[in-house]
Amino acid sequence: MSTNDATTPPAEAAGLPAIQVYNTLSREKEPMVTVQPGRVGMYLCGPTVYKPSHIGHMVGPVIFDTVKRHLSYSGWQVTWVVNITDVDDKLIAESSRRGISMTALAEEMTADYLENLAALGVTSIDEMPKATDHIDTIISFIEGLISKGFAYASDGDVYFDVQKDADYGKLTNRSVDAMQGEGGSTADRKRSAADFALWKKAKDGEPSWDSPWGPGRPGWHIECSAMSEAILGNHFDIHGGGLDLVFPHHENEIAQSESLHGCPMASYWMHNGLMQASGASGKVGGRPRDADDGEAASVEAQTAAKISKSTGAEPFKQLLARHEPEAIRMLLLSTHYRSPIHFGEEPLAESGRALEAFRRLFARSERISGTSFYNLPCRTRREGDTQIAAAGDEAAALRTRFLAAMDDDFNTAVAIASLFDYVRVVNKYIDQHQLEATKPEAELARLAALMRTLRELTGVLGLFLEAPQADGGADEALVAGLMELVIEIRANARKAKDFATADLVRDRLGSLSIVLEDRADGTGWSRKA
Ligand SMILES: [Zn+2]
Repeated sequence: MSTNDATTPPAEAAGLPAIQVYNTLSREKEPMVTVQPGRVGMYLCGPTVYKPSHIGHMVGPVIFDTVKRHLSYSGWQVTWVVNITDVDDKLIAESSRRGISMTALAEEMTADYLENLAALGVTSIDEMPKATDHIDTIISFIEGLISKGFAYASDGDVYFDVQKDADYGKLTNRSVDAMQGEGGSTADRKRSAADFALWKKAKDGEPSWDSPWGPGRPGWHIECSAMSEAILGNHFDIHGGGLDLVFPHHENEIAQSESLHGCPMASYWMHNGLMQASGASGKVGGRPRDADDGEAASVEAQTAAKISKSTGAEPFKQLLARHEPEAIRMLLLSTHYRSPIHFGEEPLAESGRALEAFRRLFARSERISGTSFYNLPCRTRREGDTQIAAAGDEAAALRTRFLAAMDDDFNTAVAIASLFDYVRVVNKYIDQHQLEATKPEAELARLAALMRTLRELTGVLGLFLEAPQADGGADEALVAGLMELVIEIRANARKAKDFATADLVRDRLGSLSIVLEDRADGTGWSRKA
């Protein structure tokens, strides 16, 4: 169904806007109707914390943080869960290589991940459950599957029996026969090569937990089924992840959860496109496959994992040392989330330059009004589209275009393009009314309304939430130095009885909203509020 076909709004809670979401399950855009009216439960597969995060780990969080911001702004109450995989083959291998415990490694890498999320303004996650905190939930989940006949224990392992699950393969639209791999190193313990591990028997020296099947640890897929059930319930609204997780991970989550619960796991399966190195055909990031699971891998996933290794995604902290986090967030949102993101130094530099167009307007408006963009009060809840009609039809139309784009499967690319046009409209308004020279009250009030709306809309994208720290500090130091110089020149002019120059300096600073105060111990200055 396309947006245009959606003539009837969904049966949501009264007053909520109609939002279209592309569902990987149906391969169509569908009107959003939530399990509980007015509420959204959203789950995103999080990282396996065995090495520092790279840009590929940040794509999903930035996208779904934006999805949550838009839904919350539009009136839904959203609970967003991102899991942390802190037990896994890769964690075991890396912690033994470094000679530290798996827990210590997981804590170190989780801290790194959280710092990177915070830098990018991903601040809306409600819960981050760790797999090792949910071992009991996972074990009861597996017991439930065994008692219903969907899983079987085999020599200390437990496997999901894909032949028992009639609609296995529905997310990827393929048959079980097409998914038969060679079965991996555990082939002899499985009934069928496509069966996947729910519980893995511990090898000597590996971290393990007691279970009805002996000491072992959970498989990767089962943790998401168990933790989403524990926090969001059997049937929640949105399940997200990168396109590289569709198979086998999400296919297997669906198999586990829907076989146990007998209801849909999630209403909407949203998948974001992966990063592509700009100017090359490589992919940066994504999740390497766990070869030991013996799952049939898609050719694309294998190729992608190889490219990922060869491009060697650098730790995100190194990227942050060269680029502003806001430029990175802007770049990730400049493409619609379902498309691949072209990533590299040049697109990042371009994104940095694009930020400047906004910041120049912020500075301009602050010079005129004396109020920083970052201190403007603005709506955080969506209201009628006519709020800024008084400030010019063009601006109101751009706000409508922005919201329509976000309602249409979270099209941040069109939303950002509308904001660039919006910035041009406001600059034109300032020029036309010569607001930098004259300050008629009515026009100033309109400018304030235009800027408040810009803050409202950039806030939906999680952009320009706070004044940039490092740059702001550098600018402040420069302003302080320049002011010292200007005050000295004025003092010299007065000493030389050149009062015309001294007055000119005072007046011109006044028009920049800077006030001089002559005191016994010298001249001070301040900004007019
Ligand atoms: Zn998952």
